[in-house]
Amino acid sequence: MAKHSKNAHESLWSTPAPEVLRATDTTRIDDIDYSLTPGFEGKKVDGQALLAERGAVLSALQEKLYANGRTGDLRSILLVLQGMDTAGKGGMVRHVIGMVDPQGVDLASFGVPTKQEREHHYLWRIRKELPRGGRIGVFDRSHYEDVLVVAVHDLVPRQVWEARFDEINAFEKELTDEGTHIVKVALFVSPEEQRRRLQERLDRPDKHWKYNPGDVTERGFLPQYRTAYQRVVDRTNTDYAPWHVIQADRKWYSRLAVTELLIDALQKLELDWPKADFDVEHEKKRLAES
Ligand code: ADP
Repeated sequence: MAKHSKNAHESLWSTPAPEVLRATDTTRIDDIDYSLTPGFEGKKVDGQALLAERGAVLSALQEKLYANGRTGDLRSILLVLQGMDTAGKGGMVRHVIGMVDPQGVDLASFGVPTKQEREHHYLWRIRKELPRGGRIGVFDRSHYEDVLVVAVHDLVPRQVWEARFDEINAFEKELTDEGTHIVKVALFVSPEEQRRRLQERLDRPDKHWKYNPGDVTERGFLPQYRTAYQRVVDRTNTDYAPWHVIQADRKWYSRLAVTELLIDALQKLELDWPKADFDVEHEKKRLAES
């Protein structure tokens, strides 16, 4: 495995991930070149080695966030993971979030709404899963399903989901004002890579559990999903909760990229270790005498 200097991430990233992946007014989902690894100059072996190194940085920052949370700091991070089946959301949780202490993670997955959830406003189930102070919250799918799958399959009238964009922006503004730093990520794989991943799920008995016949049905809706994602990016790419559009054909790249986004978000909090609320010298003396 390649060995890197302390600042390898600076030399291997020609443009930092948060900058190069951040969606802009000119982002076009239809123009994504899946073969690229934007901003990253290294190869797979470099990316994998760097992921381990940066994982240690992420973990140290997360411990600081957690420590502050334990002493009353209400700030948190919320990673919103969106992407179609096989885009690698599960792997992101396992391999990126898996690098930090699970005590400090609030993880939630959102599938087809249950009967009880359907009786409430679509943000009801989301609000229940928001991260506590000092935690990294991870949403594996999110409130965005209510403007994605819902629009693609006409689950509610257009005027209903159209109104949700403003509502989502207001909701995310409220969360931001309360101290939640939102990191929104949309993962995209090429149709060919998606086919390969689904094929693998069919070919390997240890992956059958991941296969859902509905995934092949959804493949037929790829163009509609791209349109729906474009709308999401166009309508909800705010300054306080911007989107990051990530090429996910190469898992090592998408995982490294999300690691960098989380490190960046945590660094922006400028965390310090919480001050002791007891007299340290006095306690040292007491311990020595005990
Ligand atoms: P996964 O396939 O990601 O492992 P699940 O099978 O539990 O997870 O559920 C995911 C499915 O739930 C996806 O097809 C997704 O589009 C659907 N889903 C999520 N939220 C909603 C929603 N608000 N309305 C309708 N379908 C939804």
